[in-house]
Amino acid sequence: MKTLQSELWPKVSARIARKVESERFHLWFRNIELVSFSEDLVELGVPNLFIAQWMEQHFAATIAEAVRQETGTTPAIKFRVVAHLFAGMRQKQHEEIGSLAQKPKEEPWLSEIRRDFQLSNFVVGPCNEFAHAAAMKVIEAGHTLFNPLFLYGGVGLGKTHILQGIWNEIRNRKRGKKVIYVPAERFMNEYVFAFRNGQVDAFRHTYRSADILLIDDVHFLRDKMGFQEEFLHTYDALNGPDKQVVMASDAHPNMMGKIKESLLSRFVSGMIVKLEPPDCATRVKILKLKAARLKKRIGPDVLQFIAARACSNVRELEGTLTTLVAYASLNKSRITVEMAREVIGAVAERKKRSIDLDKIEKVVLARFPVTRQDLHSNRRTSTISHPRQMCMYLARKHTALSSQEIADFFRKNHTTVLSAEKGIEALAAKDPKVREMIAGIERDLGH
Ligand code: ADP
Ligand code: MG
Repeated sequence: MKTLQSELWPKVSARIARKVESERFHLWFRNIELVSFSEDLVELGVPNLFIAQWMEQHFAATIAEAVRQETGTTPAIKFRVVAHLFAGMRQKQHEEIGSLAQKPKEEPWLSEIRRDFQLSNFVVGPCNEFAHAAAMKVIEAGHTLFNPLFLYGGVGLGKTHILQGIWNEIRNRKRGKKVIYVPAERFMNEYVFAFRNGQVDAFRHTYRSADILLIDDVHFLRDKMGFQEEFLHTYDALNGPDKQVVMASDAHPNMMGKIKESLLSRFVSGMIVKLEPPDCATRVKILKLKAARLKKRIGPDVLQFIAARACSNVRELEGTLTTLVAYASLNKSRITVEMAREVIGAVAERKKRSIDLDKIEKVVLARFPVTRQDLHSNRRTSTISHPRQMCMYLARKHTALSSQEIADFFRKNHTTVLSAEKGIEALAAKDPKVREMIAGIERDLGH
């Protein structure tokens, strides 16, 4: 019986491994052993009570099924805390802490917060006024009818600034509301840490006690099916009626990549707001504000010059400005349009190496039976307009070009670009084949 037992568990767990995503399997099954086996009862040893309960709730059926397939019997499945596993886990924890998980501190999110990300420092323009208004509503009301509030947009468009702006404002107002900011990756790291230490209750308590929970970069969860499951449970446990969750992502939930349906439905159940790249006038305002913060006098002609040429991503806009200021102080000279031209030239050179429209067009053409001439023609049959719209959509997503610049490239109106973007988003939301196609193209683009 002993040998039979020792052979049985590896076989059963191999069956389970085929059913459960590998990350998830690794997380929950690596510290489990078979204690006893009979026709009526299978007892499994686990390191602590929390794991016992979790396994009971989430994996008992899967294990029972694997046992049935392996042995032809249908015993009850029970979990029991086993001393040596408990001790072994403690030991391992200490070795693993440094490499795998961050230790939660008193206020772990504090170190992530930038005090200068205030909403009063946030320039509002047509590109972001809706997101800004929603953020203000969260601050004024504490919680809103739209829960969660889901912000999305390309990199450097101010998502983190808004989330942390909410945090700073709530803290400043001192109305006894508890607010937590956490990037999704850190959230999961802390969870894994808590889990390994048998501190999941404390972890949950920390996050559950927040009135406002701000989760940044939730696109981190893309393709991580194992983590998504844990995220979902934790999110559900936190999402009470008087809570407000605000999330930020680099893509619309439907376009985030592989996300479980159940999680997707949570993401889209509140309000979804897109952040657009700023137009030229907003770029000038942002530059003015940033220049003032750098305590530099920069002529309006220079700001206008940068805003007109520097791309529409605010982070790069800021980068160009700081490079210019650094360059000027190095040369101990006044900042002029000529100097800006030089600096932007150098920045543009670097940018060329990233994705541009030509590359997008080439990659798209490789997948559709159309020519470059077709794409740039006025023909509107769907065989031609679909790949053209795909190019426009990808250019909106992956380049910093404005809709006008993309329109110019295809000799179209800029509203055509915007409706192409919406059109492909809607198609992708409905049709997994379109999502696959996009993912494939993005892989070809080296994304
Ligand atoms: P994201 O999280 O969307 O990638 P961030 O919030 O980190 O972008 O913003 C990148 C930089 O751009 C930050 O320094 C932020 O202060 C600045 N920024 C973005 N949008 C604005 C805005 N509307 N007004 C002022 N600064 C902005
Ligand atoms: Mg960010």
